[in-house]
Amino acid sequence: MVEIPDIALFDVVMMKKEHPCSKRSRYFQIMRVGADIKIKCLGCGKVMMLSRDTFNHKLKKVVSHSEKEVPTGTV
Ligand SMILES: [Zn+2]
Repeated sequence: MVEIPDIALFDVVMMKKEHPCSKRSRYFQIMRVGADIKIKCLGCGKVMMLSRDTFNHKLKKVVSHSEKEVPTGTV
């Protein structure tokens, strides 16, 4: 059984590595939780899909929980 961090839709998370975009943001928001995790870079707005395993490895910590989608460029 794979250890699954306690994450929920719209959680804002910090990843171990910054996104290789112009904003170099390490903050992402959870856009979908399922067999795969969909996260959005809060610097540039790019959405990417990660497997649970990959997500678990790249996650540093859960920063906060939001009730809705956070506009990009705010972090
Ligand atoms: Zn980005």
